[in-house]
Amino acid sequence: MLRIENLHKRFGNLEVLKGVNLSVKKAETIVIIGPSGGGKSTLLRCINRLEEYQSGKIFLDGVDIQQIDVNKLRTRVGMVFQQFNLFPHMNVLQNLILAPMKVKNMPEEQAIEKAHALLQRVGLLDKIYAFPEQLSGGQKQRVAIARALMMDPEVMLFDEPTSALDPELVGEVLEVMKNLAESGMTMLVVTHEMGFARDVADRIVFISNGVVEEEGPPEQILKNPQKQRTKEFLRRIL
Ligand code: ADP
Ligand code: MG
Repeated sequence: MLRIENLHKRFGNLEVLKGVNLSVKKAETIVIIGPSGGGKSTLLRCINRLEEYQSGKIFLDGVDIQQIDVNKLRTRVGMVFQQFNLFPHMNVLQNLILAPMKVKNMPEEQAIEKAHALLQRVGLLDKIYAFPEQLSGGQKQRVAIARALMMDPEVMLFDEPTSALDPELVGEVLEVMKNLAESGMTMLVVTHEMGFARDVADRIVFISNGVVEEEGPPEQILKNPQKQRTKEFLRRIL
């Protein structure tokens, strides 16, 4: 579904990605961990071309993403950010139906119907006419997930989706993500919620210093990491 080959990304003189290689199969959930500043967000942002990169290739379903129209690409690759990024002047329903109507020419009636179904799925149908400021952080993030799903993406990227939340609101968002993973969505999730990683990830990928330092099933990475850097990082966060 997704193949990243020898990806290099620089900001000026700062080399952030130094040859990242990663393949993701359809329906796989990959959890990405690693030290702050190691390039995790930059990697996700390259995948839907929020950042351009200097060399290397990213293939979506076998096609180089540089060959895909960028707006089309972003309908196929959904993204959820730490800071929700909902439109503050629009209610939940308006937040959900805007992009599919504008970008996919979905008829309004169909968009509203789809919004109902997705809000039901994330447990927020009762908030359909609420504005973002009337929602808790956990509710906002569930709306952001529903909004991304409105486009029927083939891959979902999550960049620390629970790091801005009060601790008691983390669980409801992880639950929605877990259900999504179980429904067969292909997901890349940057998170340090190690319970989620252990229970939901097919693989954990440890990114440090701009490269994939180590990857493997949760069992292996969490219990028996091979690389010194992985061991040290896990010792610090667990
Ligand atoms: P992570 O998500 O793993 O914490 P990031 O991908 O956000 O790491 O950042 C990797 C490095 O790139 C950091 O040193 C960060 O300061 C730098 N960086 C990120 N975005 C930009 C930018 N737009 N301009 C310049 N430097 C950036
Ligand atoms: Mg980051």
